[in-house]
Amino acid sequence: MTHAQDPNDALFDHARALIPGGVNSPVRAFRAVGGTPAFITRGQGAYLWDADGRRLIDYVGSWGPMILGHGHPAVLEAVHRAVDQGMSFGAPTERESELAEEIVRHMPAIEMLRLVSSGTEAGMSAIRLARGATGRSKIVKFNGCYHGHADALLVKAGSGLATFGHATSAGVPEVVVQDTLVLEYNDVAQLEEAFALHGAQIACVIMEPIAGNMNFVRASIPFMRAARELCTKHGALLIIDEVMTGFRVALGGAQSLYAKEIAGFAPDLTMLGKVVGGGMPLAAFGGRREVMEQLAPLGPVYQAGTLSGNPVATACGLATLREVAQPDFHARLAERTRALIAGLARAAADEGVALCGDSEGGMMGYFLLPELPGNYTEVLQSDGARFNRLFHGLLERGVYTAPALYEAGFVSSAHSAGDIEETVAAARAVFRQLAS
Ligand code: PLP
Repeated sequence: MTHAQDPNDALFDHARALIPGGVNSPVRAFRAVGGTPAFITRGQGAYLWDADGRRLIDYVGSWGPMILGHGHPAVLEAVHRAVDQGMSFGAPTERESELAEEIVRHMPAIEMLRLVSSGTEAGMSAIRLARGATGRSKIVKFNGCYHGHADALLVKAGSGLATFGHATSAGVPEVVVQDTLVLEYNDVAQLEEAFALHGAQIACVIMEPIAGNMNFVRASIPFMRAARELCTKHGALLIIDEVMTGFRVALGGAQSLYAKEIAGFAPDLTMLGKVVGGGMPLAAFGGRREVMEQLAPLGPVYQAGTLSGNPVATACGLATLREVAQPDFHARLAERTRALIAGLARAAADEGVALCGDSEGGMMGYFLLPELPGNYTEVLQSDGARFNRLFHGLLERGVYTAPALYEAGFVSSAHSAGDIEETVAAARAVFRQLAS
C-alpha cells in the first residue's frame, strides 16, 4: 500500500489553518464518522475523484442537486453560454421568468415565486412572509426536520406543548426562538393539541414531506392530511420544504405524491433548492398569489438579494429542469434507486445484518435497524458506531455516501446498473465484516 491518504491529509491541514474545521459547511468535516474528508478534484457522471486520485461512486450528489450526475453536457453548455454573456447584472433578465415558468408548470400550488440563493434564504423568507401575511408570530416545526440555519429554526423542543423551544446554537438569543414550537414528526395527536392550545397565534407549519435530514422518513398520509386541515381551520399557512425533494422524488415534488392520496392537497408555500439550481447557488420559495403579493415591492414583507436570480445560476437550473422533465426520467431514476435499496437489503440479509431502507425517485435512505423509523426519536435508536464502520468500509471500496447517519442518499440519472452492482458488492463485503 502507498500512503494513499497523504494528499487529502495535507489539504485538510492547510484548510484547517484557514477555515474553521477546514470546511465551509460542518458535515463535510467527517466529525460524525471520523477520519479525513475526501478533497474532491473533479466529478464526471456518477463519479468523483479525490486528491488521492481515487474514483468514488457518488451518492451524495452535492447533498442533492446533482440529479443528472456531474458534468451533464446540456447543463455545461448552458452554463458556458451564460458565463460568456456576463456573471451578474443586478437587473432583471428573461431567464428568471423562464425558470419561474418551468417551476410553476410542474408545481401547480406555486402561482408565483421568488428566486433566492440558498435553501436557508428560502426558509427564512417563507417564514417572514407567513408571519407578515397572517399577522401572527408563532411557527411550528418538527423534531429532526432541517430548513436551513435561520435563527428562528435552530431550536429544539421545550419541555411540553405550552413551552416553546430552546436555541440549539450559541449566538441565537432565546427571545428569537420563543415563538418556535417543535413537535414530533408524524404525531397527529400532538399537532392537534398544539393547534388547540395556540391555533390563533400560529402563522405557519413548516415541514419536510419526506424528511431527508433524519436520513429518510416519510410524513404519513394522516399526518400530512392533519397538517393541511389544521392549518386551513386555524388560518395558518402550510409550508412544505421541498428543498431536497423538489424535482428529486417526482417532477411535481413530494407534494404531487401527497396530492394523489389526499383530495385537494396543496401547500400554501413551497420551498425549493438543490435540484432547482442544478449545482449552482439558487433556490426559491413560492405559492399562492395573494400570499406572494405581500412581498416587497408589492407588499409590506421585505425580502431581497444582490445575486438573486443570477444569470449563470438560472441557466444551470433551467437546463437541469429541462432534462428532468423528459418523459420517464423519474420512473427510470426510481427504478435504479429501488434496485440499490433492494440490493443492499438482500446483501445485508444474506450476511445476517439488520438493515431496512426506503426510496422515492432518486432519494433514498437505509438504517441499520430492523424496521423503518417514523420520527427522530426512533432514528436515534440507530447504532452510530456500526454506521461509521459501514461508511468507512464503503469509502475504502470506492463508494462515497453521506458522512453522517442522519442524511439521505441520492442516486443520479448517470448511475448505471453496473454502478449499483459494484456498490452492492462493496456493501456485501462490509456487511460480512459487520456481522463477524
Ligand atoms: N431545507 C432542507 C430540506 C434541506 O435539506 C436544506 C439543506 O440541506 C435546507 C433547507 C437548507 O438549504 P441550504 O443548505 O441551501 O441553505
